[in-house]
Amino acid sequence: MDALLNELTPPQRDAVCHVDGPMLILAGPGSGKTRVVTHRIAYLLQHGIPEWQIAALTFTNKAADEMRLRVDALAPGRQVWMGTFHRFCAQLLRRYASMVGLQENYSIYDTSDSKQAMKRAIEAAGVSTSHASPEQIAQSISKAKNQLMTPETMQMHGLSPKETVAAKVYPVYQQQLLTANAVDFDDLLLHVANLLRHQPELRSDLDARFRYILVDEYQDTNLAQYAIVRALSIDHPNLSVTGDPDQSIYGWRGADLNNILDFEKDYPSVKTVRLEQNYRSTPNVLRVADQLIRHNRRRKQKELFTDNPDGQPVILRMFENGYEEADAIADEIVSAVSTDVARPSDFAIFCRMNSLTRSLEHALRGRGVPYQIVNGVEFYQRKEIKDVLAYLHLINNPGHDVALQRVINTPTRGIGAKTVQRLQRFADDHHVPMLEAARRADEIDSLAKRSATMVKKFVTLYDRLATKATAPLEDLLRFVVQESGYDKHLEKHSIESDDTSPLANVDELISAAVDFDRRHPDDGSLEAFLEQVALVSDTDAFEDNDQRVTLMTLHASKGLEFPRVFIVGVEDDLLPHKRSKEDDSQFEEERRLLFVGITRAKQWLQLSCCKRRMIRGDTRPVIPSPFLNELPLEEMERIESTARRDWFDHDIDQSHPDAWELPEIQIDSDSADPESIDTSFDFGANQDPGRDDHAQETLARFDEADAKPAPAANAHD
Ligand code: ATP
Ligand code: MG
Repeated sequence: MDALLNELTPPQRDAVCHVDGPMLILAGPGSGKTRVVTHRIAYLLQHGIPEWQIAALTFTNKAADEMRLRVDALAPGRQVWMGTFHRFCAQLLRRYASMVGLQENYSIYDTSDSKQAMKRAIEAAGVSTSHASPEQIAQSISKAKNQLMTPETMQMHGLSPKETVAAKVYPVYQQQLLTANAVDFDDLLLHVANLLRHQPELRSDLDARFRYILVDEYQDTNLAQYAIVRALSIDHPNLSVTGDPDQSIYGWRGADLNNILDFEKDYPSVKTVRLEQNYRSTPNVLRVADQLIRHNRRRKQKELFTDNPDGQPVILRMFENGYEEADAIADEIVSAVSTDVARPSDFAIFCRMNSLTRSLEHALRGRGVPYQIVNGVEFYQRKEIKDVLAYLHLINNPGHDVALQRVINTPTRGIGAKTVQRLQRFADDHHVPMLEAARRADEIDSLAKRSATMVKKFVTLYDRLATKATAPLEDLLRFVVQESGYDKHLEKHSIESDDTSPLANVDELISAAVDFDRRHPDDGSLEAFLEQVALVSDTDAFEDNDQRVTLMTLHASKGLEFPRVFIVGVEDDLLPHKRSKEDDSQFEEERRLLFVGITRAKQWLQLSCCKRRMIRGDTRPVIPSPFLNELPLEEMERIESTARRDWFDHDIDQSHPDAWELPEIQIDSDSADPESIDTSFDFGANQDPGRDDHAQETLARFDEADAKPAPAANAHD
């Protein structure tokens, strides 16, 4: 038999050999869903499907890279499109930008750029933020976009008072993005969904082009993502999706569980495949995971079995405080590594929020254990990197006002905040980018002559930098850093702090550019480089060949596996997160998050919590997570580090008379992981049984889209 199929079970083989028609692979963790996706791509190629007709969509770049490696091993040298939804949309939008009112060199605003732009839009819209914070306004707009609402349709919906404020800001924000020739992350999806909806010819061309679409981790798609793959699978409904509703953990970002629960309804001819054998974990790990997830009310029960050996019992460990927890984990790793039981790369430590990694890092560093924190975004968020990139952004897209505001006086050029404000007002009044306003500084009456001169000098500098726009990236970067005076500025202000000086970071960025030039000798361009940087996801820095312990958030752990896993801080108000408690569906999502973490473990797993934890510099008593009470404690190994040996014999229950009567814990939202629920705002409605009305309507409209030609796309519609 075909070597490709040899390494699959009969149901996996059945799924891999399915060629035409929709398919739903619904299965629990570790059952080989991702393996089916890669093998099926290879199978399609082997059976004569041209590579350009296939697209595989993933949720992280890391997952796409991993997939590429695996497909390459099975079908060497074939170029199948694999990447995230956002990258897929970014590339389509590059080609069809003009159809939504953008130019092809449009910029992608990252989260902090969007925040900046939102602040300006809130000001310009003149709304009060006393009842809805800028963050809440941003969340409401993001939620609306993920549900494919335009500024107009948002106004027409039954809105809460906070959403009413957001609905006033939304059109202003969209108009400003358009003037800046920019999009935010949500727009990437929204614009493409709208394009497909309003341009039937283009939709059918793309449907014919991408005949075979495979989506992994489908349970985390939101309505916009769903609409996109649906629109591309009407004439050629060879859409195959793979997912596990129990692992849906992005509800706070608008993921809609109904997309998977209703797939069979949406595609009546669907072939449904269920995989029931787990190849990843020991029975001990699986039983703990299963017991936990059974407590979710809104789910379909699935049975998972494994032929793997029993392994060790899952450990539940209680520590006095976070330092003891970190020290014990580091000691455990050192001991396993020094006795050759395991390698550092076998270990992963997961936590609910990035801020919890600090004490772990300290403990690992102190013992000389190599580790990596999986958070690729961090590097690109450093001030000096954002500054230099802002120059590039502005060169690539003169409309990038956020970039202009960043660099116009960095290094200082005597252009003060008042001057910048005046430029901004002129730009707003005339609907032009701020760089254009700067060119017309003489027309701005409120500008002092001296300020106008400074501004014009900056424009001259900009024009000089822009002459190098098409040079190799390395040359461009070096030119920018020198000509702008940024290198001198850094030298002057550099204090060698930690082991990473700002200058070294800029060098690192230049290395990234050299690498990009090398890997894209033909199609390398400033625009493509900036796109890549903007779409870096938090799992990108992850290199599993490295001999290092991995520290990451539970969210980032999705789809991965490790021989030995620690999950720290399984405590009330952390996991479940404090803010999830007001809403049943968010609370169930927290339980799924722990389920995802547990099911990453292959052989060995330890959950831990502390009695006290330092939060915002204050050490406070903590309550164990209510989820711990839901685990099969009798078959787990329970270890309490120090005093109160009787702890586990008490019910882990806040109401226990001997339990902790404690003050409320405030988790510092500023220090929270951007991927954590701290950014969530009222997404609960999304997950209520039955799709909400707006979503139903949208999809109904969508279904009609190719029957009725719709009006031309409007960029901010
Ligand atoms: P998750 O839901 O966590 O993403 P998954 O269903 O995608 O899990 P995979 O990552 O594809 O599961 O597979 C889990 C592990 O089991 C991998 O190491 C994979 O190589 C292995 N595996 C899957 N199927 C088989 C098989 N038929 N024979 C041997 N190993 C297998
Ligand atoms: Mg998977």
